Amino acid sequence: MAAQTAETRGFETEAKQLLHLMIHSLYSNKEIFLRELISNASDAADKLRFASLSQPELLETGGEPKVQIDFDTEKNILMISDNGIGMTRDEVITNLGTIAKSGTAQFLENLTGDEKKDSQLIGQFGVGFYSAFIVADKVEVRTRRAGTAEDEATLWISEGEADYSLEAVSKATAGTEITLHLKADEKEYAESYRLRSIVKKYADHISIPVFMQKEDLPVTDEADEDGSKKDEESVVEYEAVNEAKALWTRSRKDVKADEYKEFYKSVSHDFEDPLEWSHNKVEGKLEYTSLLYVPARAPYDLWNRDSARGLKLYVQRVFIMDDAEQFLPLYLRFMKGIVDSNDISLNVSREILQEDPVVDSMRSALTKRALDMLEKMRKKDKDKYNSFWNEFGQALKEGPAEDFTNKEKVAKLLQFTTTHSESDAQDQCLDDYISRMKEDQEKIYYLVADSAKAGRNSPHLEIFRKKGIEVILMHDRIDEWLMSHLQEFDGRQFQDISRGELDLGKLEDEEDKEVQEKTEKEFVKLVERIKENLGDKVKEVRVTHRLTGSPACLAVDDHDMGMQMRKIMEASGQAVPETKPIFEINPTHPLLVKLDKEADEDRFGDIVSILFGQAGLADGVQLEDPADFSARLNKLLLELVN
Ligand code: ADP
Repeated sequence: MAAQTAETRGFETEAKQLLHLMIHSLYSNKEIFLRELISNASDAADKLRFASLSQPELLETGGEPKVQIDFDTEKNILMISDNGIGMTRDEVITNLGTIAKSGTAQFLENLTGDEKKDSQLIGQFGVGFYSAFIVADKVEVRTRRAGTAEDEATLWISEGEADYSLEAVSKATAGTEITLHLKADEKEYAESYRLRSIVKKYADHISIPVFMQKEDLPVTDEADEDGSKKDEESVVEYEAVNEAKALWTRSRKDVKADEYKEFYKSVSHDFEDPLEWSHNKVEGKLEYTSLLYVPARAPYDLWNRDSARGLKLYVQRVFIMDDAEQFLPLYLRFMKGIVDSNDISLNVSREILQEDPVVDSMRSALTKRALDMLEKMRKKDKDKYNSFWNEFGQALKEGPAEDFTNKEKVAKLLQFTTTHSESDAQDQCLDDYISRMKEDQEKIYYLVADSAKAGRNSPHLEIFRKKGIEVILMHDRIDEWLMSHLQEFDGRQFQDISRGELDLGKLEDEEDKEVQEKTEKEFVKLVERIKENLGDKVKEVRVTHRLTGSPACLAVDDHDMGMQMRKIMEASGQAVPETKPIFEINPTHPLLVKLDKEADEDRFGDIVSILFGQAGLADGVQLEDPADFSARLNKLLLELVN
């Protein structure tokens, strides 16, 4: 022990930054520190119970799991103790001196300096133990890991600035005792009435009792004189102030909305209320209870593939593990909550979970449950669903590729911007689209572009606008990939309108077709001449049927890779097969009419080059030779000004 006497250590930079931010941005909701500390204590009790499955001796001395809250109004001190798993010295250093969460640095980089915005971010990050410093200017943690000796306890003290001190101490029982030396203006957190109301608010659903001194007994000053608790316990009686019943074990009708919300916050460490939840008890071949939540806001690390995700797993009320990711597919990784099974073994490990057929059945049932919950929300409350979509829609778009069985269910949940949308928001679902389809319309038309605006202005839409046909404007990076997994919906095929020959099916009448054929014949020569001019830059040149106002556009051949997918692959450094566009011209456009009559081959070449370049630009494609494009354009402009 001698080597481990007092020492002072600096906080890791990230911990320091986070601490600073916490103290300065959470002033409007200070009381949540108590929720965080009680929730940690309850986790510690869960962990001890789990560890004792294989080491029963760990439970011998501690007694029933509990949290105890003491306070000293005179000295302005608050103390939260538990008889949970406790921490070794090394664990104290890792858990309280560093921030082990992945993506922390990234999170900190995203901070704006604007306190209001940042405080929302910190809510998403999850505040945890450090929230103690919101109300305290000095925090002491006295902790002893269950199964270690009395004199192997550790005392951690910090004033929440640059450093903390560590000291080897003795502690009679295993568990953790946190003492908050409250700031001068935070006296309310050393008052019985206030504390009780916070505990009621935040801890009713926690499965272990939170004890406080019985109120009718006056707090005797003498007992606290030396700050020791031993004397107190002989005179003071305690009572549980919370209900101490795991929320999910209660019947749905007995749980109030506020209780569900509070439970969510303690499970997820989120700040905001959840958007929606679904609580279910399943009985029959499999028996389990699940409580799934949809958060209001995406966590800072939703797109980090390595970040923790999944549900809190309990087996017969015993906590088994956090982040059990086997119960939901990756595209539903934003869901939070718990699952409590009666069929899984208490000795289960992550590896075993992966192979357990019981888990597979639960996973498909929970996936359906989650999708149904979203579908209900979509039908019931469009605004709420739109806000959900803005946060998590992109994740859901991974669904059709990942989850073949539920493809149609997921597709029902997708939202897009369409030519019907009033803004660029993704606010239309496929059912909406179908309800507005033209009488003879067989396909669902879509266009992939870099942005909603680029989509809206694309020349490809011209004929659709003329005929009043709605087109879905896809503009998320993932969209083209999504569409490669979603060939149809509700029996109707999807059709990329920039791909292949335009085929409007029954939406075109005989007359249209005759006119088209006639034009094609009429301009065979012009097409040939352009083809010669562009050479191997194009796969084909043809007369278009898509355009009414623009002179030309590019089309992608049926089985070629689309522009967006190409860009994604190129950006990720992958080899992309070479494909060439189809150049479609609108011979009724005055420019083409003129071009057809152009005898000077040089000028002909300049105009074709410019039209070809422009058609690419409209699709967000970069010019192959921008200098050449400008030179040719300037040549023509000069003729105008001369
Ligand atoms: P989180 O709970 O989100 O992991 P915290 O900052 O609240 O983050 O706590 C960090 C870690 O410190 C916890 O994961 C846990 O390992 C440990 N810890 C905190 N409070 C206690 C406690 N009362 N008993 C045992 N370990 C604790």
